[in-house]
Amino acid sequence: MSEHRQRPIYLDAHATTPVDERVLAAMIPYFTEFFGNPSSINHQYGWEAEAAVKQAREAIAEAIGASPEEIVFTSGATEANNLAIKGVAEAYFTKGRHIVTVATEHNAVLDPCQYLESLGFEVTVLPVQSDGLLDLAAFEEALREDTILASVMAANNEIGVLQPIAEIGKICRDRGILFHTDAAQAIGKIPLDVQAQSIDLMSLTAHKVYGPKGIGALYVRRRNPRVKLAPQLHGGGHERGMRSGTLYPPQIVGFAKAVELGLSQMDEEIQRLTELRRRLWEKLSQLDGIVLNGHLEKRLPGNLNVSVEGVDGQALLLGLQPVMAVSSGSACTSAKIEPSHVLAALGRSEALAYASVRFGIGRFTTVEEIDRAAEQAILTIASLRRATRSPSSEDTRPASRTTRS
Ligand SMILES: *Cc1c(COP(=O)(O)O)cnc(C)c1O
Repeated sequence: MSEHRQRPIYLDAHATTPVDERVLAAMIPYFTEFFGNPSSINHQYGWEAEAAVKQAREAIAEAIGASPEEIVFTSGATEANNLAIKGVAEAYFTKGRHIVTVATEHNAVLDPCQYLESLGFEVTVLPVQSDGLLDLAAFEEALREDTILASVMAANNEIGVLQPIAEIGKICRDRGILFHTDAAQAIGKIPLDVQAQSIDLMSLTAHKVYGPKGIGALYVRRRNPRVKLAPQLHGGGHERGMRSGTLYPPQIVGFAKAVELGLSQMDEEIQRLTELRRRLWEKLSQLDGIVLNGHLEKRLPGNLNVSVEGVDGQALLLGLQPVMAVSSGSACTSAKIEPSHVLAALGRSEALAYASVRFGIGRFTTVEEIDRAAEQAILTIASLRRATRSPSSEDTRPASRTTRS
């Protein structure tokens, strides 16, 4: 039976994370006992649910320097990105029809932009530098009189790179252009502040930060400037008309708890994850032909993404699979057999983009797991390379390679 087998080491924290036990404990009463509809204003059941939602909204707002009325709950970051981009486009198209974004964005940003192009909007998709960072001068140059929105992610889901969002926000603010950032990977992991970083719209999700799947939020600035947004879901007028649909108190309570936990242990966790990442990279970089994807320091502490020369990408993943759960490219695009658009944007060849591994180190990853994963990865890569070079090369290896010193 599979339950007796040891499961692979989980190193895919950018795809999703387990729900923290403390988050689950906070959620449970809202499924059964406090099951009311927060919109039921006529009785205690509704008031209880509404009070929980109110408290959660305040906690999430506080975590990003916003006020509670600026938080619109959604089903996750995909919906938040869609609402931000299409909602702004629809509300501001008489002012302008130009949008600026970046080649390394998540598909939940790129696809809505592409959809808007089909409706007559113009989208500039900026390239990145070889380390994955946006060139600020190129960004500024791309802005036009008719630019209504710029969308640049806070932290990349594949290579972990942190874009200079405070600088981008400042440039947009000075030009009167709205700034949206997809912070799905950043919330609860690195500091975010909508005031200090001049952010007008920000997409959040719970499941990358040890909260439940299926819940997220869009921050929508209410003053200096007040952002207008055309709703994308019409109905009962929930969330001040911006997103209709009955609120989901257990998920909302869990989301807030997850964000609070992330914030309360952020500094120590950044240190711990940075050390684990350093340890992993130190071991892996002893191999020849290992290429780091993305800037080494300006990245999420738990992210390492490498390309491996001289091995087949598919064989590499198959070799690693029994021991560790990692991914190649993003989980959202891995169903399609296409090299990652993010690695392509860094200028990696197709072969190197295919032969890439994303390690997502998380809250529950241990030093022992990192050591075991590194050791296995090194063995797998070495054996794949031997197999490719020549099946009989085993016997002709120089003695020094097998001698311990
Ligand atoms: C995971 C992710 C999304 C999608 O979020 P969901 O809540 O799963 O819809 C969007 N953007 C980035 C950067 C992500 O990492």
